[in-house]
Amino acid sequence: MKNTQVALLDGGEMSAKEYQVYWNYPSEKLISMPTYGVLIDHADGRFMFDTGFDLAHFNKAIAPKGALQSQRQTIPGQLDLLGLRGSDINYVINSHYHFDHCGGNKHCTHATTICHKCELEAAANPEPFEKFVYSDRSFEGGQATAPDLEIYTPRFETLSGDQEIAKGVHLFETPGHTLGHYSLMLELSNRRPMLFTADACYTQKGLDTMMLASAHVDPVRGYKSMLRLKEIAEKYDAEIFFAHDAENYGRYLKAPYWYS
Ligand SMILES: [Zn+2]
Ligand SMILES: [Zn+2]
Repeated sequence: MKNTQVALLDGGEMSAKEYQVYWNYPSEKLISMPTYGVLIDHADGRFMFDTGFDLAHFNKAIAPKGALQSQRQTIPGQLDLLGLRGSDINYVINSHYHFDHCGGNKHCTHATTICHKCELEAAANPEPFEKFVYSDRSFEGGQATAPDLEIYTPRFETLSGDQEIAKGVHLFETPGHTLGHYSLMLELSNRRPMLFTADACYTQKGLDTMMLASAHVDPVRGYKSMLRLKEIAEKYDAEIFFAHDAENYGRYLKAPYWYS
């Protein structure tokens, strides 16, 4: 059986005020927030965990000029670095449906979409204060933005509980930021497991100080999920990859490099 390989797909960066990254922290300093997707080349198929933001959507619905993304940093641009196209992806797993994690789903025109069953419900009926972060609905299909995307009609598979969806591909429930949030751990042959927090924890500093991000639907569950991430990392001796951590992001290796 072939060995699993993993590539980080750079998705450009957004910025946020410090109090948004660390709940109630008294600072309006702007912090850079890189985004990325994770491509898993596995014996059972090609999986993608999160797909970043769509720049046109960001400019229209979130804040004009609040994000940077070159053509090379789109999902098609990143897959091209690896000699792949969106239609080569078999499964898209979404940690959750905030706009900066599902904006590129629509490029994966042939993929089955996997998520937590609570997350699909949360995205359909967000709390009023969550509406703007759930504003990119293109992951649902049926609203093609370009002729070559008209065939995008996603099939959803929903899960609950912790799951090993393919050998060495683990989803761990980490709710709080959203109701149906999953973090991902990958077991590889030649290195420590990789634990991708997604938005259960934006940064190393957040985990070290146990400061939640301001965006959350249940802070108590969010806090427990951060503790859970620490426990998982310790149990499996996993290396943690944070969702939006500019300091650490610089040392992550990105496509066309493969982790294996
Ligand atoms: Zn989020
Ligand atoms: Zn995010």
